[in-house]
Amino acid sequence: MAMQPIDLDDLYQDLILDHYRNPRNRRKLVQADIDRLQYNPVCGDEIRIQLQVRGGRIEEASFSGGGCSISQASASMLTEALQGKSLQEAKAIAARFRLLMQGEPTDLDALGDLAALQGVSLYPVRIKCAVLAWDTLQEGVKQWEAAKGG
Ligand code: ZN
Repeated sequence: MAMQPIDLDDLYQDLILDHYRNPRNRRKLVQADIDRLQYNPVCGDEIRIQLQVRGGRIEEASFSGGGCSISQASASMLTEALQGKSLQEAKAIAARFRLLMQGEPTDLDALGDLAALQGVSLYPVRIKCAVLAWDTLQEGVKQWEAAKGG
């Protein structure tokens, strides 16, 4: 019997649903250095990103909120991708993910599970869902850096 061909779309779909059903780092931190809540009114998604930062490095990344599977899976993947990373590395990952959402070539290996969201780039309405966590992250980091520099 011939082996079943691997359907990449199905694999990606499974990964997104796995993050949605079993979200990683979905908890509220009692104390967070970076703490930001944002909404995507188009879909009703809500994401709160909390980070503990020590010496410019993310020691703890968590999210909470609610919404569609794309928004929640993207947030779950974000927190996984950011654990232990420096803020500079976090910004680089965010920039790479935006390229992915714009359908631009980017380093898929470096994105890990996030590469599963590649197909979302074909659906402009869903892109807002996928980037909500990243918008929240980037605004939070910006605020924190402004407060530190001021
Ligand atoms: Zn959504």
